[in-house]
Amino acid sequence: MKAANWKPRDSRIGGLGPMLGLLLLAVLLPTAGVLWFMGQAMRNERLVVRQKLEDSYSRQLAGVREQVDGFWRDRLASLAGTDATAPPQQVFGKHVTMERSDRERADCVVLYGPDSRLLYPEMAASTADTAASGQRPPAWGWAEHLEYIENNPLAAATAYADATEQASDIHISAQALHAQARCLVKAEQRDAGLNILIGRLAGDPRYHDARDPRGRLLALNAQLYALELIADAHDGRFAPLADALRRRVLDYDGTAMPSAQRLFLMKSLESLPGQAPCGWPVEAEELALRYVEQQSGLPPTGQLSRSPLEGVWQFALPDRHLVALYEEQNLLDVLNPLIAVHSAAAGAAVTLAPAGQEPADPAVFMRLPAGEFMPDWQLTVRLEGGNPFAAAADRQITLLIWTAILIIAGLAVLVLIIARYLTRQARLTRLKNDLIATVSHELKTPLASVRVLVDTLIENRCGDANQTREYLEIIARENLRLSRLMDNFLTFSRMERNKRAFASIEVNPAQVVTDAVEAVRERYEAGGFTLNVEVAPDLPKVIGDPDALVTVLVNLLDNAYKYSRERKQVTVKAATDNGTLVLSVEDQGIGLARRELKRVFSRFYQVDQRLSRETGGCGLGLSIVRFIVDAHGGRVDVHSQPGKGSAFRVRLPIRAS
Ligand code: ADP
Repeated sequence: MKAANWKPRDSRIGGLGPMLGLLLLAVLLPTAGVLWFMGQAMRNERLVVRQKLEDSYSRQLAGVREQVDGFWRDRLASLAGTDATAPPQQVFGKHVTMERSDRERADCVVLYGPDSRLLYPEMAASTADTAASGQRPPAWGWAEHLEYIENNPLAAATAYADATEQASDIHISAQALHAQARCLVKAEQRDAGLNILIGRLAGDPRYHDARDPRGRLLALNAQLYALELIADAHDGRFAPLADALRRRVLDYDGTAMPSAQRLFLMKSLESLPGQAPCGWPVEAEELALRYVEQQSGLPPTGQLSRSPLEGVWQFALPDRHLVALYEEQNLLDVLNPLIAVHSAAAGAAVTLAPAGQEPADPAVFMRLPAGEFMPDWQLTVRLEGGNPFAAAADRQITLLIWTAILIIAGLAVLVLIIARYLTRQARLTRLKNDLIATVSHELKTPLASVRVLVDTLIENRCGDANQTREYLEIIARENLRLSRLMDNFLTFSRMERNKRAFASIEVNPAQVVTDAVEAVRERYEAGGFTLNVEVAPDLPKVIGDPDALVTVLVNLLDNAYKYSRERKQVTVKAATDNGTLVLSVEDQGIGLARRELKRVFSRFYQVDQRLSRETGGCGLGLSIVRFIVDAHGGRVDVHSQPGKGSAFRVRLPIRAS
């Protein structure tokens, strides 16, 4: 058998490819657009939230900065309020002692004169105050000789006593007294020595301001010496002596002495028995001394800057006469609580730290300069317990994501509906075109031959009655064929429009076979066919449409007739198999190639169009068979070998009635 050039006349999406591509684009492009927009929107949302947060904290930090600036203005005013004519130790004492509040007190101040000369810490008493470098009397030299060369402290003590008498200067006289006491102690005359120290040096108001060559107040040294000699807190002389010494050491207002002496006395007093530290500015004195050792030149004014000492900051007044020093930790201890009060923001903590020393913390949200007076410091905002706006941003973003998902899903559904609609429309249009083409084609030939025959008969050109009869038989056959064709068209058309409603009644399979055989009997006989009918006895009834089932068998028998050649043997069978009713039509005709077995059930498909036209087919018979069998819940298949014949088998479910 020759296979005709097959073309997919029933292609369901032929030509739809580009359109579906466009539809896909119609989903993909807006989806990409929506996703891009979402990405932008999410980024913007985060930026907006961050911006909001920054604005909010910036406003808050502006307030904090004002507080910090105010703090320094207060300090500046307090430092500047110093009486310029007051003695330096008085100024120092005023700034570092407890008289001032935490907010005002400096850890230490260093004072300079108008000529940038260091005034405090006092390195040595001014020469104006002391005549310690004055002439020593002749007895002094002899006393020193006795003390250090002769090693005769007792004799030396007497010589120093002479020197005291000879001295015209109160300072020399006091120095000689001190030396006399020292020698008496060396000569193991402790009480005599104490008498000189307490009774004369410390007790005589004339020696109140007497100094040694390094500017140190001798009366105070004498007191300390006496205390060390007594070394017993229970001694009646000890406490009054210690009190008197403490009063003078702490008397920044009235008593000027070298800072080193004051520091030494403070520390010595602290270490004496029964003496506890009582707020002495030991650290301030030490700091001042360390600072002037390291500092060269004057620091910048009007702002806090690093001092040469580790962890110590300096603040110089604009006139530079006074430099206040602050321990970094003390500053933090005072400023951070102040900042905390004025930056009570939910979810954030503001701290102050010198620039470069801020904690490298991922929770740090922003940093800002700490104000005009602290250019080397920064305020740091750290978010605690998560970002308060992040939750709002996340909510917005979730809303965006859901909106985008809904838009995309909506688009996809819309496009699917449109695609389905368009596919259906395209299929219907193709079907219509195929139907019109087939109908016009299939009708043209038989109608033309009928017309010729009818014309011949009308014109009475027929030779004899036999020929007339032959013509009439041809006309009748063509008429019959056209009727079958029209039946198939109508059935098909109704099927396609879903207008074909099948009955659902009990059907006797044997009756179906009988009716079908009856329908084709005449044709088969005329064609010289042998039709074997094998119906198994007692076949169960099936539920269905008897007419439709007859149509199935008639179509199969019709095909067996059309596609048989010399061997005109057709068998129709009805039997049960595995709970199904099997109706089969077997022929020994031209058969089908393996690849055609599936295709033959498609609409308008014909293996050999020329052959089908000759036999009066239109490619709808088997598709009608499949449609009806499907509607009955059954299956149809074909076994065939080219040149040997085909067997079409219909399986229908047997249902209990
Ligand atoms: P047609 O009206 O053309 O016969 P059908 O749908 O009934 O259309 O059959 C489709 C095609 O299947 C036919 O054109 C024919 O080529 C092939 N065919 C159908 N039945 C047989 C058969 N019994 N033997 C061989 N070929 C067949």
